[in-house]
Amino acid sequence: MPFDYAPAPESRSIVDIKPSYGLFIGGEFTDAKGGTPFKTISPATEEVLAEISQAGPSDVDRAVKAARTAYTQTWRRLAPAERGKYLFRIARIIQERSRELAVLESLDNGKPIRESRDVDVPLMAAHFFYYAGWADKLSYAGLGPDPKPLGVAAQVIPWNFPLLMMAWKIAPALAAGNTVVLKPAETTPLTALLFAEICQQADLPPGVVNIITGAGDTGRALVEHPDVDKIAFTGSTEVGRQIAISAAGTHKKLTLELGGKAANIIFDDAPIDQAVEGIVNGIFFNQGHVCCAGSRLLVQESVADEVISSLRRRLKTLRVGDPLDKNTDVGAINSAEQLGRIRKLSAIGEKEGAVRWSPPCDLPERGFWFPPTIFTEVSPSHRIARDEIFGPVLSILTFRTPDEAVAKANNTPYGLSAGVWSDKGSRILAIANKLRAGVVWANTFNRFDPTSPFGGYKESGYGREGGRHGLAAYLASNDGESA
Ligand code: NDP
Repeated sequence: MPFDYAPAPESRSIVDIKPSYGLFIGGEFTDAKGGTPFKTISPATEEVLAEISQAGPSDVDRAVKAARTAYTQTWRRLAPAERGKYLFRIARIIQERSRELAVLESLDNGKPIRESRDVDVPLMAAHFFYYAGWADKLSYAGLGPDPKPLGVAAQVIPWNFPLLMMAWKIAPALAAGNTVVLKPAETTPLTALLFAEICQQADLPPGVVNIITGAGDTGRALVEHPDVDKIAFTGSTEVGRQIAISAAGTHKKLTLELGGKAANIIFDDAPIDQAVEGIVNGIFFNQGHVCCAGSRLLVQESVADEVISSLRRRLKTLRVGDPLDKNTDVGAINSAEQLGRIRKLSAIGEKEGAVRWSPPCDLPERGFWFPPTIFTEVSPSHRIARDEIFGPVLSILTFRTPDEAVAKANNTPYGLSAGVWSDKGSRILAIANKLRAGVVWANTFNRFDPTSPFGGYKESGYGREGGRHGLAAYLASNDGESA
């Protein structure tokens, strides 16, 4: 029997949400001259949290101009160690304001406070600390003796990890001497706007970081602006493709971090209890809204029954509900639109013959919710084995031999991540070498570290974020190339 838990809500009194927000351009919040404002809501309750400005083309232009001015007049001229000091200061403020950031992230995104508090915010601070250390050591990054910044970076991020994706984009860009204009996703703008306040608090020179809010059109206007030198995008493969087409033939340097359909491979000698925890973390962490989620479980046939029955037992103990409750494991789906997509693909799974199972769980009446779900009897041709569902839905396939596992794992247009569970180190290394995935986890899953590069093959995009490799995306490796 699972335990009963008394409610343990984190107080939201620490956050001060304003009724409406302007755009953060040139170090100040300014009114948008563009489109109609929109509302951001809490996906757990559908409560309206704030009114958000919609940046139009003239606002995008103002933001790019502010970034260009800051680049040429201040940031590029600053001694690298001074740039580093600003980044260290931002990292420390993130730590000081970590509870506020975590509560706001959970409110606007729907993710459990346990995750925003213990994963997103600490990793965000860690990225700023890590890249702060690089600011005055760029000549040791392996990119030539005197690598130069590119100029103005246009950065567009998704809604699944608003704070973390912002840190992945802004920290290396600034450390390398670039200035940025960042657009958060339409459904999760609040923590980016709080980060703008943190930039003010850190006395960051005006225009080094600009945050503009809006929908897809704002993102398009930003990446298509002729005066940006670098585009960094995380989101769907479809939009990534459009951006690649629009940037082709221009001077803009591009990195794309797109979708995934990762295989999590369990061999018969794996420690089953640990593997089950890894499976749960792989697909139910952050409601499965994770580009590198282990959404395809490949389990060796001889242990499949044991793994699946342990997994079912474990899923019955997951607590789904209020993201601000400290006992919650699985929070709300980020938007009605995303919920619709998950429902549609799950229905297709059933229609194509896979067998669907969810543990009994009471879902709240308001808000966007989907229970943890597993599909068995899945074949590699099923849509749920091929398409990114981006929700708490696991497709389970079996295999007999290591070669079959590798063939099935690589049978996907994506190539972002994979997991291998086995007692034998030699087997892990042999399999990892054959997997076409940017990140391969061994006897663990969804582990992130700022020193470790992250990125994909094939339709999962190109370029790397994180680590020393993440600097390459923001530097021109020979002396003459800087903007
Ligand atoms: P999108 O790719 O549409 O959104 C990602 C970001 O790009 C958002 O900030 C979005 O703005 C912006 N954007 C949208 N259109 C354009 C454009 N033409 N030019 C520039 N920027 C643009 O993802 P969705 O939110 O629509 O999610 C769709 C699917 O994509 C999900 O179901 C999931 O499968 C996948 N996805 C993958 C992610 C990953 O980490 N790899 C992250 C998010 C989604 P706005 O939010 O206003 O639309």
